[in-house]
Amino acid sequence: MSWSRVCVALTLPAALALWACSRGPDFIARDEPWRADEERACLGAGLVRESAFVEARASLGGPSVCGALRPFAVAAAARGSVHLRPPALLRCPMVPAVDHWVERVVSPAARHYLGVPVVELKVAASYSCRAMNHVHGARLSEHGHANAVDISAFVLADGRMVAIKSGWWGAMAERAFLRAVHGGACHIFTTVLGPDYDANHRDHFHLDLARHGRDGEGRICK
Ligand SMILES: [Zn+2]
Repeated sequence: MSWSRVCVALTLPAALALWACSRGPDFIARDEPWRADEERACLGAGLVRESAFVEARASLGGPSVCGALRPFAVAAAARGSVHLRPPALLRCPMVPAVDHWVERVVSPAARHYLGVPVVELKVAASYSCRAMNHVHGARLSEHGHANAVDISAFVLADGRMVAIKSGWWGAMAERAFLRAVHGGACHIFTTVLGPDYDANHRDHFHLDLARHGRDGEGRICK
């Protein structure tokens, strides 16, 4: 996506913003300094360590508002025991959040409800410079900030795969497992959307660390 096609409305004077938008916006982007502040704090605190599964990448997005300062390609979580396929491209704060969710929520839930460990998460999307739900002219998605990941299925150690599309209303054990990992995600991520939210999410969980509400402390769990 070229810069000229991006509508950056809120940091520009109104007339200039109108001009920029009139060129055919793909998305609306806000000026949100907290994003870089939060990312720098995460990087400075060393919350993400590079390993065989976590690799630092060059900044994303170029001149556009998309991207991250120092994203990471995450190929596995929970000390390498659970693969992410394909690897997820995530900004710093998302990396420990995903790791925490997989290790403390997904893995125990798989053992409890399905009787076997989970070995892989199917990543339907991570970084993508686009509007929310791919709707032309909508707000820039958290995916555009590498601040979101979409998970469509869980692969178990015995080879079974629990897909959200079929399992959300599938066998009782799969239903219970998927609701446990969805509900558990709500304590870790600030936005968790699944099949009960809307038709766009019938086949995946969307997890992100957006700020919601006036104080930025709100959460969305649906
Ligand atoms: Zn998503």
